[in-house]
Amino acid sequence: MLEVRGVDARYGDAQALWGVDLEVAPAETVCIVGPNGAGKTTLVQTIAGLHRAAAGTITVDGVDIAALPGHRVCDHGVATVPEGRRVFGHMTVRDNLLLGAYRPKARAAHRETEAQVYDLFPRLKERARQHAGSLSGGEQQMLALGRALMALPRLLLLDEPSLGLAPVIVDEVFDAIAAVTATGVGVLLVEQDVERALSAASRGYLLIEGRIAAAGPTADLRDRADVRERVLGM
Ligand code: ATP
Repeated sequence: MLEVRGVDARYGDAQALWGVDLEVAPAETVCIVGPNGAGKTTLVQTIAGLHRAAAGTITVDGVDIAALPGHRVCDHGVATVPEGRRVFGHMTVRDNLLLGAYRPKARAAHRETEAQVYDLFPRLKERARQHAGSLSGGEQQMLALGRALMALPRLLLLDEPSLGLAPVIVDEVFDAIAAVTATGVGVLLVEQDVERALSAASRGYLLIEGRIAAAGPTADLRDRADVRERVLGM
């Protein structure tokens, strides 16, 4: 479904990604692991249309989205949960969710999707009328995930979903990611908790200094010396 081929990204004169190749299929969780500054966030933002690729193609179901701005990338079934969640604190939980359903197809289905999101995260249903700013960090992560699901994505991009959350809440968030994948959505996951990322994903990519240094089933990646040294700290 998602195919990234030969993608470069730059910040002015500094090149952050070099010829990145990557794929995500439907109903698959794929992780990107790598040391700090490797370019993981840049890669997610480039796929999401928030940072323009300097070279290469990014296709979703065969359509090249590399030159599209973020809001047009959403039209192709790609939803992003950015690092730091970015929910609207002064709006209610429900209104935050409805914001995710702005595409016509998603708007038409919003009642059904909202019920599915509440099934996945009962806590959001309990707090539907509260301001999002009053939620805990874990609840805000669930809300950010729920808001992305309201867009009826085929591909979900997740940047650091566990950041700053208590382990028990992280378990819940990852259970939800597994449930979402089981519905047929492809998930591309950037996660600083590498052990968790390797457990949650079936395949992964090791990104080092903006280049894919290794790719394969996560069980194989875990055993590689470069993964153990560079990202697992062994
Ligand atoms: P981390 O795990 O620390 O978040 P990362 O793997 O997500 O790191 P990026 O944040 O994508 O890495 O950064 C990749 C490179 O691009 C780094 O060298 C970083 O300094 C640089 N970079 C990132 N954002 C910018 C920016 N807005 N302007 C200039 N350089 C940037």
